[in-house]
Amino acid sequence: MKTEIVILEEDKIDRAIMKRASNIIKSGELVAFPTETVYGLGADGLNTEAVSKIFKAKGRPSDNPLILHIADSSQLEDLVEEVSDTARKCIEKFWPGALTLIFKRTKKVPDIISAGLDTVAIRMPDNKIALELIKESNRPIAAPSANTSGKPSPTKAEHVKLDMDGKIPMIIDGGSTGIGLESTVLDLTESIPLILRPGGVTVEELRELLGNVEMDSSITEMDSDLIPKSPGQKYKHYAPKADMSIYDGEIDEIVHRIREETKIHFENGKKVGIMCTDQTKGFYEQGISISMGNREDKSSIGHNLFNTIRQLDELDVDIILAESISRENMGIAIMNRMTKAADGKIIRVKEE
Ligand code: AMP
Ligand code: MG
Repeated sequence: MKTEIVILEEDKIDRAIMKRASNIIKSGELVAFPTETVYGLGADGLNTEAVSKIFKAKGRPSDNPLILHIADSSQLEDLVEEVSDTARKCIEKFWPGALTLIFKRTKKVPDIISAGLDTVAIRMPDNKIALELIKESNRPIAAPSANTSGKPSPTKAEHVKLDMDGKIPMIIDGGSTGIGLESTVLDLTESIPLILRPGGVTVEELRELLGNVEMDSSITEMDSDLIPKSPGQKYKHYAPKADMSIYDGEIDEIVHRIREETKIHFENGKKVGIMCTDQTKGFYEQGISISMGNREDKSSIGHNLFNTIRQLDELDVDIILAESISRENMGIAIMNRMTKAADGKIIRVKEE
């Protein structure tokens, strides 16, 4: 299949292109499109056969449910049993935005979307191209990240092309995605709202709105064998080709240790990539160091994280040594993705 790449600007959407894209969705085929989090791989969310093409194109395990994207809260009516007061509060404050809500589902939601669960994940993205595509298609759009399963999520159309070229008819290139990390997944079917995946909306923001909010213990204790409630969280994710480790502790000690490790790998003839920050980039003379962003502005790190991993992959490094990021605000989501990318390898550094 030939993959057409069309360029659209959020503020100047070409109606003819949008019509073509929505016709592809309506005809049961796939379109990759930008959202404010990462690029999504979209299909008609009410058409089982169309949705099955998402699983095929991504190589996604069939027990990993998908998020339905809507453009108007009235679309919830058909899809969910009940919109609780807590849900209404979340919707009012965070939609459109990087918050996915889990509801009890109705029979209208195809089984393939929910992967056999009695719940459904729904979000309203904060990107005009995504919203227009949903409106023009006049149905919810199922859209996981538009990468091959296991790879870093795409934050640019070029990333989507690398993974999806030849597999889907259209990619809408709307530039780099703003947040760069996926949405926060919040389960509202429990008595206390439960975060199943940390993401673009922070725990602090949710607690400010709702008071008591819990976090799935598999997020807070990532190095344990706890089984996450969200099926997708148990899979290996975001993985670079190189062997990646994260160094965690005081920043001076992290830099010191990464410098030492880089020297050893260098002497052994290995190509080393370093994921550092604006504050520390100047300290690395050896290895290929790429700054993920500014430690004082975590959103800059979220924005660049997946692109940094993909860049190091392209440079064909053998080893990736990454600095940890403190776990407040967006830091939890950043460390969650980095820990998965490193397959759990976190080295705690401490000066003797
Ligand atoms: P993706 O769209 O690929 O970034 O992933 C969507 C995430 O939401 C995955 O971790 C899914 O397992 C999770 N998810 C989707 N639907 C549900 C659901 N009904 N219950 C729990 N988790 C869900
Ligand atoms: Mg994904």
